[in-house]
Amino acid sequence: MSLTTQIKEFALDIGYSKVGIIPAESFPEYITDLTNRHEMYSFYIKGSFRPLVGAELRSLMPTAKSIITTVYDYSQKNFPKELTDKIGRVYQARCYNAPPERINGSRPQLMREFLRKFGCEVGDKISLPERLVAAKAGIVNYGKNNFAYAEGVGSFIYLTSFVVDKELDYDSPTVEVGCPEGCSVCMKACPTQAIYEPLKLDPRRCIAFNTFMTQDRIAGSHIEPEIREKMGTKVHGCDICQEVCPRNQARLKAKLPDDEYLVNFAQNFSLSQMLNMTDEFYSTRIQPLMFNYIRDRKYFQRNAAIALGNLGDPAFVPDLEVAMKDPEDLVREYAAWALGKIGGRSAKEVLKASLSRETSESVKTEISGAISKATI
Ligand code: SF4
Ligand code: SF4
Repeated sequence: MSLTTQIKEFALDIGYSKVGIIPAESFPEYITDLTNRHEMYSFYIKGSFRPLVGAELRSLMPTAKSIITTVYDYSQKNFPKELTDKIGRVYQARCYNAPPERINGSRPQLMREFLRKFGCEVGDKISLPERLVAAKAGIVNYGKNNFAYAEGVGSFIYLTSFVVDKELDYDSPTVEVGCPEGCSVCMKACPTQAIYEPLKLDPRRCIAFNTFMTQDRIAGSHIEPEIREKMGTKVHGCDICQEVCPRNQARLKAKLPDDEYLVNFAQNFSLSQMLNMTDEFYSTRIQPLMFNYIRDRKYFQRNAAIALGNLGDPAFVPDLEVAMKDPEDLVREYAAWALGKIGGRSAKEVLKASLSRETSESVKTEISGAISKATI
């Protein structure tokens, strides 16, 4: 059996749904696209992933000969309704850059060990344009919503590539849009019109981006009020443009087994707990799912405050009152916004009391704005 066949069989054996292989060449089309949209993607270009360097992969691994790319289908089990309006499915599935000690982190680890056992040097920390790699290897094509779609699965997939120094047998590309003619359901459904043309997303308008990239060290922690309003109850990720897609309906409507871990998880997860979280909530309800981008809990609290504001229910005023005493300015600022959004006499009283003791100028400004907006 050839090395190519052995690699593919091993990948399928450990749970990947599809595997393809391409030569390890650079990706000039990706470099051009990202460079042309530098303003929108500066946070990513300048960030630790260094995508423009990864797209010239031989600059990081001069011995690179092949890229093995895999599809992991993370929607094989049901996602609880209580969570899907708050947390993106890929995060609920615990597979996005999972640490090696977790089951979904052990799969790429096993793959690397297998490749090394067969004498391959395996590249490390090379950020590749995963969707383009997988499309060039013929295992996905594109949706106009920018997601990669795998035949028979849909877009709830996670792509992982491995760069090796061995020449292998290569697959034929499917770099194309696979959507039904005339469909633009995802573009119309996006609450912020972030998909401004097919295959083009402005990340600054995307709810998912705003839930986790708006951190001081990445893109600044401010979320525009217009976007806050449209975030609804999303606190980590957004699946709307995938949920509405006809190409995902077979999977979304399928009768799937429950994920007992998520069923248990959902029983002790609420936005109020997230807003005023304890150490235990952080370690058992935040870190196990939302470990990808955010390290500082104040951003989760901010997102919970926005979600509670958008729910508009006066029952959350006491939770927000507690948050108005949080040591983090950011949390008080967004709790004030949420109180203004909920409105009513009790919310206004909390805002006035908070203003009288507030010392941060930025929080005072937010509170004053919230008081003027709050209806009685
Ligand atoms: S993830 Fe949400 S906000 Fe972002 S493009 Fe899709 S629907 Fe729009
Ligand atoms: S909603 Fe329609 S246009 Fe958008 S990705 Fe799905 S099939 Fe393509």
